[in-house]
Amino acid sequence: MTLRADPPVRAAEILPEVERAAAELHLAKRSAEIDRSPEFPRPEFRELGRRGLLGLSTRREVGGRGLPVSETASALCRLAYLSGTTFAKLSLQPEFSSLLAELGSPALVDAQFRPLLRGERLVGNHVTEPGAGADAGALSARAERVPGGYRITGTKSEAAFAVDAEVAIVYASVPGSGPGLSAFLVPQDLPGVERSIAAEDLGERWMRRGRVLYDGVEVPADHRLGPEGRAFGPLKKELSRERLFLAAIYLGVGRASFDDAVAHAGTRMAFGRALSAHEGVSFPLVEDWARLDAAGLYVERALDRADRGEDVAAESALAKWMATETALSAIDHAVQFFGGRGYSSELAHEQRWRDVRSGGIAHGPSEIMHLVAARALWKDETGREGRRRAAGDSAT
Ligand SMILES: Cc1cc2nc3c(=O)[nH]c(=O)nc-3n(C[C@H](O)[C@H](O)[C@H](O)COP(=O)(O)OP(=O)(O)OC[C@H]3O[C@@H](n4cnc5c(N)ncnc54)[C@H](O)[C@@H]3O)c2cc1C
Repeated sequence: MTLRADPPVRAAEILPEVERAAAELHLAKRSAEIDRSPEFPRPEFRELGRRGLLGLSTRREVGGRGLPVSETASALCRLAYLSGTTFAKLSLQPEFSSLLAELGSPALVDAQFRPLLRGERLVGNHVTEPGAGADAGALSARAERVPGGYRITGTKSEAAFAVDAEVAIVYASVPGSGPGLSAFLVPQDLPGVERSIAAEDLGERWMRRGRVLYDGVEVPADHRLGPEGRAFGPLKKELSRERLFLAAIYLGVGRASFDDAVAHAGTRMAFGRALSAHEGVSFPLVEDWARLDAAGLYVERALDRADRGEDVAAESALAKWMATETALSAIDHAVQFFGGRGYSSELAHEQRWRDVRSGGIAHGPSEIMHLVAARALWKDETGREGRRRAAGDSAT
């Protein structure tokens, strides 16, 4: 399956593996269980790692599967279709840690990244702070130079896996190195790290988001990822790819609810006819059909461009926004047309809606996705993107 209903065949090899994992590990059922009793799914994480389903697009040289992004997106879309957002996002964790893979020393990659690919070690990403999220230029965490390394001070908030990650990539500025952000890999058991879970979330509860306080935490110099003050460039590259993957995931989930709603509307009787014979039901569903296909085509085109090495920052931002909105509309119609059962946890639609709703906020809120795209349309007079950091790009 690709992102459309009538796709050309893609990802031929990986799809059966994904389908087997979803069936054998009962991933749809597990996703519902850890929604009700939130916990990080360690056994499934390890098992996906054992099956080579973590880091599908990660380079082979650092232990990944090395698939093209289009193929990876098809696999994630299928996994999301079968089991919701949970395990597709779990599969993406190595892609969310690309700075470690690309900028970490070989020793750090061996010790921290390869175990992530095996599902043995979870890496968090700490960007957002209580006072700054969408506007990454306003982050205030500091990493002062000290003999042999850095001392990090600041509070990170909204973070996924706040108490579950073994290490985290922490973004902070180094006084004296200019305004740019630097990235550090910080083991979460170091003295000075304090972690807590925040209030329960609307959806994606298994991420157990929360706050991490860094109170003068000292890390060795080789835990800095890339040069001082230059982390934002690689992070933007990562975001560009991951937003396309997220778009594929949301379209997979939206398609699942759409297919369920179509089947239900064809058989459920009301006023002597199938629901589908009432235009009040069939018209919104045919609109979802068109929107899901259109969004799928848009995302596929951006994926192809990404595979050719083109810059797709603007398209990926719009793809995430469009896929989120499209999927939410399709899922909402499923909630509606399944009636009372649609509103209950007996069916998957309500959890799907809550989980996909994060797509408008996480990995760059929708408004910032519009800003990213607008900057690509209206460049400044030098031809470069205007006001990069000033207008902000959300980093997570
Ligand atoms: C499920 C989930 C997982 C997350 N995981 C992580 C994680 O692992 N690590 C991490 O660091 N963060 C994480 N986040 C946090 C997320 O990245 C931030 O919530 C997001 O960047 C927005 O930042 P904020 O919450 O501070 O909101 P704000 O920055 O206060 O923004 C609030 C709203 O105002 C809008 N806004 C801001 N500026 C403008 C503007 N110029 N024009 C128009 N609108 C604007 C924003 O788009 C947003 O809708 C996660 C969030 C969620 C929901």
